[in-house]
Amino acid sequence: MAKNGNSMKKGPKINENIFKFFEIMSKNQSSTWSDKYGNYEVFIFKGGAEKKIKEFKNANFLVADFLCDMSFFQCYFDREELEFPEILVSIGSFDVHNLAKQQGSLLNSHLVTIPLPLANDSFGTNRCNLLGNPSFQCIYPNITIIDTYLLSQFKPKENLNGIGEFVGLYFSIIDYCITRNLLFPVDILLFISNNLEVLVRLYYEDYEQFLRRLSVLLVFKCLVMRTSESHQIGCGLDHLFAGHIEEVLKIPHGKAVYIGCILAFVLNPAFKKFGFSLVRLIQIGLKLNWINTKEIIPFLDYRTIVKAVETRSNRITVLNGVRKENCELAFERIYDILKRKEPGYGKHRFEL
Ligand SMILES: [Zn+2]
Repeated sequence: MAKNGNSMKKGPKINENIFKFFEIMSKNQSSTWSDKYGNYEVFIFKGGAEKKIKEFKNANFLVADFLCDMSFFQCYFDREELEFPEILVSIGSFDVHNLAKQQGSLLNSHLVTIPLPLANDSFGTNRCNLLGNPSFQCIYPNITIIDTYLLSQFKPKENLNGIGEFVGLYFSIIDYCITRNLLFPVDILLFISNNLEVLVRLYYEDYEQFLRRLSVLLVFKCLVMRTSESHQIGCGLDHLFAGHIEEVLKIPHGKAVYIGCILAFVLNPAFKKFGFSLVRLIQIGLKLNWINTKEIIPFLDYRTIVKAVETRSNRITVLNGVRKENCELAFERIYDILKRKEPGYGKHRFEL
């Protein structure tokens, strides 16, 4: 008989080859992931996108409006659209990739995604989220092109948002495992917490390498979701919080997810088991001048949990079991840390 219940438990279904793929992507200009959904080629270079895009014949180009100032993309705006393109190339962020995934699945086209800036993971998933409605399953991209030169043309803050999307994976995986009684994939959780530290160091010391690393880490996240065959492993309570925070503050998704991670941290002891500390998480966000205390404090309230759960009411999450009194105690800890990190904040009133 098993000594304890844990010996019978399994971990989530994540293909361990993603670590090998991560190593290959980190050192090369291109690499290919293969599975039952087909091949997924990832190109990473500095300034090679223009040449690569020209290789795609019989293609339609979906370019995000905010790229209209970049001369690089001028020729793709107002280009006559093909009725049955073999390839769709989506260039930009969330909205344009979502549209391309939907069109691609209707037209049976191959999909090429180019993330600009590195704000979220929509370039590498098969989830489609239109007009804020619940997401649904579409197609995976066949190719992703990451050009660190083009990414460097955005404000660093815009690329920082990708950190939130990556770090959120840690919280989502733990949420997923607790609620489904699965063993924690410790190697993946430690990998995420270690890489947050790597990203912060690179951000200050070598921005080009930061962009490269963050891109590869976002692809890594997409592969966790892809191989586990449940996107919910990559959008747990951090994303539920983010859904509510985005609605209220109108801030970018990745940043809202990062704030969601901070709120999640105190709600279950498991979140501190694999390398993160709440103080460190807050310190990093503030030090990068990316988040600020005024954005977090209004959400330190039980109503935030209620609203977060309401964003996806059928989602299984540890938030369902959080009691009001425990939540208020836990959120007070966040408030204390925020006060310590930004001394001037004491003069503002804190309302629960
Ligand atoms: Zn997300």
